[in-house]
Amino acid sequence: MTQRKSNPDLTLNEIPSGYLNIMGYVDESEVNGPGCRAVVWVQGCLRKCPGCFNTESWSFQINQLISVDSLAQKILSNPRNQGVTFSGGEPFWQAPALASLARQVKAGGLNVMSFTGFTLEQLRSTYAPSGALDLLQQLDILIDGPYIQSLAVNSPNSPVSSSNQKIHIFNPALQDQITWASDQIEVHIFKDGSRLITGYRGGLELAE
Ligand code: SF4
Repeated sequence: MTQRKSNPDLTLNEIPSGYLNIMGYVDESEVNGPGCRAVVWVQGCLRKCPGCFNTESWSFQINQLISVDSLAQKILSNPRNQGVTFSGGEPFWQAPALASLARQVKAGGLNVMSFTGFTLEQLRSTYAPSGALDLLQQLDILIDGPYIQSLAVNSPNSPVSSSNQKIHIFNPALQDQITWASDQIEVHIFKDGSRLITGYRGGLELAE
C-alpha cells in the first residue's frame, strides 16, 4: 500500500489508453493563462509542496476518467475558449494523453499552456516522465518549478506564485500576453448551483 502511494506508475497504469484521470475542468477561465481558456486539472502529484493550493490533487487514485477525444471536443465546442491550460496535480505524469489532447486542440486553433513542478531542464533529461518531450513540443507556454512557500509572490501583476518559477514562452505570438496574475480569484457558478473557485495560485476548489 505504501509503495502504491509513492509510485505513480502503479496507478497511472490503471488509466485506460486514450484517457485522462482529472481532478477538474472548467471553460472560460481568465485567471489561468492568456485570454479566455479552458483549464484541465489533472489528478496526481508526488511533491507535497508545503502551502500547496490543491492538496486534493495529490492522490494518484482514479478520480474522474475522461477520454482525450471527448475532452478535446468539449474544449473546442466552446467558442470563447482561446486556449487550454494544464494544471494539477502534475500534468507531466500524464504527458502522453495531454500531448494527444494538445494536438487536437491546436489543430482547432487554440494555444496550449502547462504548469509543472518539474524544471524545464528536468523535463528534457533522461529522468523525465514518459512522453515529456512530446508534450513539451506541443506547448506554447510552460511555467515550471515547484511552489516554494518561502518564495511566495503575492502580487496583482505576477503570473507566477513563487519567485523560483519561470515562464517559458515557446510561441513568440504570445510574448505580450503574459497578463494574468496568480493571486486573482474567479468564481464559476453552474446551472446546477455548484460552484468552482479558481485562480488563486492556480488553485481549484469545488463547492456544492
Ligand atoms: S507541484 Fe503543485 S500540485 Fe504538486 S504539491 Fe506542489 S504546488 Fe501542489
